[in-house]
Amino acid sequence: MRLLLVEDDRALAGVLRRALVEDGYAVDVASTAAAADEAVSVNDYSLIVLDLGLPDGDGAVLCRAWRERGLDAHVLMLTARDGRRDRIGGLDAGADDYVTKPFDFEEFSARVRALLRRPRGPRRTSMSAGDVTLDPATRTVWRAGIQVALTVREFSLLRYLLSRAGEVVERAELMEQVWDAHYDGLSNTLEVHIAALRRKLELPGRASPIETVRGVGYKMVDMAGHQTGSPML
Ligand code: CA
Repeated sequence: MRLLLVEDDRALAGVLRRALVEDGYAVDVASTAAAADEAVSVNDYSLIVLDLGLPDGDGAVLCRAWRERGLDAHVLMLTARDGRRDRIGGLDAGADDYVTKPFDFEEFSARVRALLRRPRGPRRTSMSAGDVTLDPATRTVWRAGIQVALTVREFSLLRYLLSRAGEVVERAELMEQVWDAHYDGLSNTLEVHIAALRRKLELPGRASPIETVRGVGYKMVDMAGHQTGSPML
């Protein structure tokens, strides 16, 4: 397995590189964001160890750009002990895990092994279906590139439908996921919120991205420009 180690502190990079090589990995080292970006565009890495504070850029910004380009390597961030905001920013940017400096090498090795046991797959920082995109970290929603303002509840509803894009989600499941299992308010609450969400996502000449499946529930249409034949309720 080939790993990329992105760390500008030469002494630390040297120690980490040796530890990883001893664990049997092939390791490339990059000491700047630019060098890391170039290495990633040329090689296929199973895992990237990424320091967030780089001399020519922010590791989180780099990670987000990689994820948007479809990079599916595991990313393990190196952050400062007091870097709570960095850790949050890094995880939201698509990193899988982090270790805080100064760290224990055995724990570092164990985290690398744990990540490498997980299957690789495309991970994006945003969720999308058709022409609808939602960024959970910034709580922003777009339809065909146009930003849409939603209430907290509408946002939750859309996020859940997007997580199940292309599938029919039953009314009871939506109620349970977006409200809670014990919600005993008005029975048409869901319909009211779906109607409001559809209105906000409306775009002239385009079908609603949310289909009603009569008597069952709702479905987020997963194809761009897909025309639906079912009636909109
Ligand atoms: Ca650094």
